[in-house]
Amino acid sequence: MLKMIRAQWIVPISRPPIQDGALLIHRDRILQVCKATSLIKNYPKVLIEDLGSSMVLPPLVNAHTHLEYSCLKGKIKPSQKFTDWLEQMMTLRHLLTPEEMIRGIQNTVKSLKKTGTGLIGEVTNTGLAAPILQKEGLRGSIFYELVGNNSTLKDYFKIEKKLRREAPSFKIAPACHAPHTVPEKLLLEMRSHLNKTKAITSIHLAESLEETEWIQHHQGPFAKLFEPFPKLSKNSKLGQGLGAIEYLQKHHFLNPRVLCVHCVDPLPREIQKLKKIHCPVVLCPRSNLYTGAGIAPLKKLISARIPLALGTDSLASNTDLDLWNEMKALKNLFPFLSYPIILRMATLNGAQALGFGKEYGSLERGKKARFIYVQTESQKIKDPLSFLIEESHEEINGYNS
Ligand SMILES: [Zn+2]
Repeated sequence: MLKMIRAQWIVPISRPPIQDGALLIHRDRILQVCKATSLIKNYPKVLIEDLGSSMVLPPLVNAHTHLEYSCLKGKIKPSQKFTDWLEQMMTLRHLLTPEEMIRGIQNTVKSLKKTGTGLIGEVTNTGLAAPILQKEGLRGSIFYELVGNNSTLKDYFKIEKKLRREAPSFKIAPACHAPHTVPEKLLLEMRSHLNKTKAITSIHLAESLEETEWIQHHQGPFAKLFEPFPKLSKNSKLGQGLGAIEYLQKHHFLNPRVLCVHCVDPLPREIQKLKKIHCPVVLCPRSNLYTGAGIAPLKKLISARIPLALGTDSLASNTDLDLWNEMKALKNLFPFLSYPIILRMATLNGAQALGFGKEYGSLERGKKARFIYVQTESQKIKDPLSFLIEESHEEINGYNS
């Protein structure tokens, strides 16, 4: 059956906002997006659901989280030095029990929904979030993360079936934590597995100066941190002058299906390499400030036309997982960024990076009839995108046909 959704503003993302706009929906798909008046003219008998002064837009996409660390909220203080944050994190994460992780995940998934997030790139070492994300109706990718001296792809194969069973609406794939925290052998295994399956994966990359120093020159504060991990610290490819991105390139690991998370400290020449490979970068600006990692070279990434998505990372390095706050922070850090570019990062770019661009991320013909709508008091909003990003929203509802 046909149905029309009418609202003060429809924000399709892929094109400018439409005042007094409408979506024509058939079953679970969008058929048309245009002015309400022209839709009513063409379909005079169509059932209309009028959302009044609301703004309608696609669900937000949080391209990088670790929900199982939600229970660490407030337990690690914001740090000036990345290694200070990391040391605390390495100690605390081993003390967490499954029960407290599950409680944290449940609460956080509820607040994700309340703030309009519908699609997620979730990185996990336990898989605990999978059934909760499925039950709460979110969509996205679950990356089972491998990390440490003895990590191998076999660890992923042991849990893969369970994850697929528990979260059938999600894409499931393995992921390496970071170039320097997994054995080289795993990078190679992973590369051939991902080439075969064509799965999208995620990796933390060039997150901090200390990481670059370690990979490029095999020295710095990471030397002490890596002492207990001989396979990782004695890696002969470290210290050859390659940056983190070049190190992965040397292993033929990078391609457009690899989400590069952070990229705070790429070498200038590496940005051109990312551009050539067309890897998406997931920015986590508030997390990078929280950990002391710093600020990503956004102007350079944008001028290299690298596809940019947005993530919050976890509550171990952020105060909340509200993407509206992440967008506000981005605007404050980089005032030159326009509102349409910021909103695109938090919707369409994220959906495309996660491999959901055909169904989510924008309101367009053929895409899923899933959207969020933000209540507004006023009928006279002139610039809907600045309103969406600058104002706080008490009420965000989700629509799922
Ligand atoms: Zn992360």
